[in-house]
Amino acid sequence: MHTIWILGDQLSPEHAALREYRPGHARVLMIESKARGSVLRYHQIKLVLVYSAMRHYAQELREAGWDVDYYELARGLTFEAAAREHLSKHAPDAIVLAEPNSLLEADALAKLGRKLKIDIRFAATTQFLLPRKDFQAWADGQKRLVMENHYRSMRKRFGWLMDANGKPEGGAWNYDAENRATYREWQRDGAPRAKTPLNEAPDRITQEVIELVAREFADNPGRAADMWLPVDRESALRWLEVFVRERLPRFGVYEDMMATEDSQLFHSLLSPPLNLGLITPRECIEAAIAAYRQKLAPLNSVEGFVRQIAGWREFINGIYWHRGAEYRELNELDAQQPLPAFFYTGDTEMNCLRHVLGETLASGWNHHIQRLMILGNFFLTAGINPQQALRWYSELYVDAFDWVMAPNVIGMSLYADGGSMATKPYAASSTYINRMSNYCKGCGFDPAKKTGPDACPFNYLYWDFIDRHAEAFGRNPRMRMIVNGWLKRSERDKDDVRASAREFLTGLK
Ligand code: FAD
Ligand code: SF4
Repeated sequence: MHTIWILGDQLSPEHAALREYRPGHARVLMIESKARGSVLRYHQIKLVLVYSAMRHYAQELREAGWDVDYYELARGLTFEAAAREHLSKHAPDAIVLAEPNSLLEADALAKLGRKLKIDIRFAATTQFLLPRKDFQAWADGQKRLVMENHYRSMRKRFGWLMDANGKPEGGAWNYDAENRATYREWQRDGAPRAKTPLNEAPDRITQEVIELVAREFADNPGRAADMWLPVDRESALRWLEVFVRERLPRFGVYEDMMATEDSQLFHSLLSPPLNLGLITPRECIEAAIAAYRQKLAPLNSVEGFVRQIAGWREFINGIYWHRGAEYRELNELDAQQPLPAFFYTGDTEMNCLRHVLGETLASGWNHHIQRLMILGNFFLTAGINPQQALRWYSELYVDAFDWVMAPNVIGMSLYADGGSMATKPYAASSTYINRMSNYCKGCGFDPAKKTGPDACPFNYLYWDFIDRHAEAFGRNPRMRMIVNGWLKRSERDKDDVRASAREFLTGLK
């Protein structure tokens, strides 16, 4: 008989290996490994999410008639020790897995198979819309890998939001221009907020896992008891339904703004269940398009959401497998500043960072613009080492997995790949943050001041960043004007910026 080994982020209704067998014809293996859960100091809510979702999934499989050999964390076994015990108990002919979602895991499992002298096979994953080989084939035909081009090919391939003539619905491929409401515009619109909070009380399984994680991972960030995420397919589908009904209509327009009053706004919060496999990308996209067809959500919101999943999510995963394990080690801008300790406490005078970090530490989640334009912007302009930043994001986010972290952090946010993913660095001064949020209102720093002890650090960090990389950025057509503007400034101006940045960065150490 074969064994189907199901990993913690492969809890899919369409699991690639599971669907090839029937109960009674194969046995399922699932392992909670303390060693794997301790590779980084993961947020406690992330650990509760993964272990509780695994236990719910195992329960559903048993109810469906599967024989599940489940190793709980309390046994204290590594993957290898638990796999050995399974092999000696059941002597399967082979172990079949869905392709792991991470390069490191795929490599480790192949090695384990050789060590244990058991045939380990991988079935092509179904957790993404596109098979890995199809992205590779697309990438091979491109001069430069541009998300927009890939997204358009996905829209055509799946026929999503395409009209009868094969043209994009509404005549345009994207409606970003309608999706840039600022904080003030949100207030002018009456500061709308979603009605239904998206959290449900923990059931018995989750409660047990909360106690387990609080005990076993007591020193990790976050509080297990603050668990707020869906842990099984049924509740993940409920989240999708609530999102489509109550958040999707305004998803687009308020996508980029940030408010101290509401951290979630109209975002879907679907990345945790999506990345675990509890719901599929196709289900999310088709639910949004159905809402559009029924005139329950406008095109700018629906296209914006479809773009996130069929566009960004697929592209990020494609880049991860295309670029391989070395990608996560890149540091093209030679950023060497160590990660400041306040990223684990939120104890900083910068109100935007204090506020966003408070949310990260409490919930393990931030929305995209907070990740990119507050935290990422700080890492980038302050020259924080990308591998230390990557580690921090990987530890703190409930939806963090290697495939999604490496391209988003190394490529999109920190420009550490030298610009092969982002056409220009996502760097900004206080002008952007002050426009898109209300963080500056409660800040001790002055967003209007450019240098000096009470000036907003983003103002001098931004220009110091341009100064440090003027030569490289001067060769980028999208950055050339900014660099030229900097070069034309007086030497005194430039020295003031450099001195303020130096003082601030020295203080960070
Ligand atoms: P929504 O705004 O509602 O978007 C819908 C869905 O689109 C998301 O659930 C997600 O599945 C997908 N999506 C959108 N953008 C991306 C993207 N750039 N990459 C992959 N999927 C995307 N996403 C993660 O899933 N895990 C991470 O650990 C993660 N870390 C990030 C770190 C940085 C520095 C940046 C810039 C982005 C990161 N993202 C990550 C992408 C994105 O920010 C999150 O997917 C999103 O904020 C999750 O919230 P949501 O489900 O409400 O998303
Ligand atoms: Fe952030 Fe600067 Fe605004 Fe303060 S003034 S909240 S540091 S952008």
